[in-house]
Parts: sequence; structure tokens; C-alpha cells
Amino acid sequence: MDKKEPLILAFDTSCDDTSVAVLKGRKVLSSVVSSQVDIHAEWGGVVPDIARREHEKNIPMVYEEALKKAKVSIEDIDYIASTYGPGLAIDLEIGLNFAKDLAIKYSKPFIPVNHMEGHLLSGLLENSKGKAFTEDVEKVKEGEGLEELFPAIGLLISGKHTELIYVKEVGDYVKLGQTLDDAVGEAFDKVGRILNFGYPGGPTLTEFAKKGKSGKIEFPIPMKNSNDLNFSYSGLKTAALYKTKELREEGRKDKEWVYDFCRGFMDAILESLVIKLESAIQEYGDVRSVFVGGGVFNSEEILREIGRVVRSYGLNYVYPAKEYRGDNAAMVGLVGYYKAQSGDYIEEKEEVEKVDRVPRLTF
Ligand code: ZN
Repeated sequence: MDKKEPLILAFDTSCDDTSVAVLKGRKVLSSVVSSQVDIHAEWGGVVPDIARREHEKNIPMVYEEALKKAKVSIEDIDYIASTYGPGLAIDLEIGLNFAKDLAIKYSKPFIPVNHMEGHLLSGLLENSKGKAFTEDVEKVKEGEGLEELFPAIGLLISGKHTELIYVKEVGDYVKLGQTLDDAVGEAFDKVGRILNFGYPGGPTLTEFAKKGKSGKIEFPIPMKNSNDLNFSYSGLKTAALYKTKELREEGRKDKEWVYDFCRGFMDAILESLVIKLESAIQEYGDVRSVFVGGGVFNSEEILREIGRVVRSYGLNYVYPAKEYRGDNAAMVGLVGYYKAQSGDYIEEKEEVEKVDRVPRLTF
């Protein structure tokens, strides 16, 4: 590791996790995430007001802990980065304002970061433990040959987003497609609710799917013939709701069919993702890699199945280690690092003051 690599302090409060990280270059020195999932579980989903209160309460401690774990002081930091969108407006501003205040107080250059760019590049974090399929990716994690991975396709799936991105190089993106309604994570949670799994529903649904048989209960494949690179999951959710009703009205107990139901639902989601990813790869024949990110990749099955497709095209598969799949500030710090390298930061205090949250920020 180059001793001259900059120290970056990064913040993310875009949803219900309060996270602060310290990076030295691409290496994560500390990544502290204070999760609120237990609090929101009682309400069946994220309540923005409650999340804001928790962020306000937690952020000073999470910040102190991140510095302490990284064994650095605020004076040592070279750049301060923070997510400014997309996310929940009243939550985004807690982390953003905290970061801006520090940048102004300690005269540090400030870097506003797109949270989704963080997910997109999360597989490049240096000590990300996710195994790369090719040496190219390992080489990049050691600091060389970044350009060899591009152009690339990015597939991002999380609670709020389902997106395909064409990545010409770091910082140069074109959105190819996105969900027209629900995101994959949202569809998992909504169907989890129909099946009384509690919140979040995704983890139980993917676990149960492992025990079910494919083809016993089938669902329509969303947007199969749409001839574009968009996604849609609200029709699948409605189909799941009707199917549940039908089965229950037949007098069949949930436990008799729930595993096969989850299997069928998972198969439909996976097939829709694979169809769109393959279309993107075929349409953009010059790509060398597929980058994936977002909390839904916590499903090892989704990570593996997408990987199988990527490898069948002979492409690099760049994916984050488990700890960087959900929301975290380390990925925000990584984007901050690349922006700092290209001189894309704000030094004037008046300009830092003006940076505002953009809840609907997009690529
Ligand atoms: Zn996210």
C-alpha cells in the first residue's frame, strides 16, 4: 500500500442504517454500521421519521467509533465524503449535514457521493473478501489495471433500486434500464408480508426457496418480452397475492405449499434478472466485466446464479464481500477516493455549505 494514499472519512444515512467509514486509498480501515432493522421490523418497514431520530442519536457515536477503529484523528483526514442521494430526504440530510459541518470546521475538501455509484463500485474495495473469478479483478484490488475492467455493465439490486448501467469507466455512466415500479427487494418484502414472514421478508423467502421444488408453483416472468432493459415487479407481487388467496381458499395450509411457492417466486425473479442482463451483455458487445451490488446480493443464490451467467460470457465478475452488499459508508468512501484522484472535490466553504441532498438522484 502506497503510504501517500489519502485518508477518506465517509458517511451514509440514506435509509435506515447509520454508517461511517475510514479508508486509506481503496483500503477500508474501519466501517461502522448501526443498523435499525429491529426497530423498523415492528412497523413492517422503514419509517423515515423514526430513522431520522435514530440517525441523530447514533451518528456522533458511530463517527467516533469509526475514527477510533481506524486509529486516526479527524486532523489526519484528507477528504470527507458523504452520500447526498438517492434516499429518504429527511434521513439523507443527517449524515450529509454532519459531514459538511466537519469539512467546514476542519477545512477539509468535501466530496458529495451518489449512493448508487457506491453500490456499483463496492466490489473494488481493496480488502473486500469477495473472491474474484479472474486475476484481473485481484490485480485491480491491488491497485493496478483498473482500466482493463471497462467498459462494463452494472447490475444493482436493492430494497429501492433495480438498475442496469453501462460503465464506460469509473465516473462515466449511462443508465440502460430500471424498474418501472417496485424494486426486487421491495417485491421480496411485500410477498414476505403476504406470507406473514415479518420484515424484512427477503431473507426468509430466499431460505424457504432452497427447500422448494421448481415448477410446482409457477409465476409469470416479468417483462420477458418487453424488448427493453427495464424491470417491473408489481405484477409479480399481485400474481403472488392471488396465488396465495387461491391456495388458502382451497383449504390448503400454508406449510404444505410455502416452500414451492417461494421457489417459484425466486425462479421468476432470477429469470427476469438473467434475461435483462444477457440482453444488455449482447447489446453492448464491448463489455469486459459485470459489476454487481446492493443488498439483494446477500442472497448467495442470486450472487451465484448471476455469476454463472457472467462467466458463461467469459467476463470478469466484480462483486462485493458480504459486509459491503447492504448499505455502508465504505463504498461511499471508495467513490470519494476515485473522485479525489480526479480532482472532483469542493474546497470553498461557501460551496460546501450549498451542497443539498437530492432524494431522487440518478445516474
Ligand atoms: Zn443502498
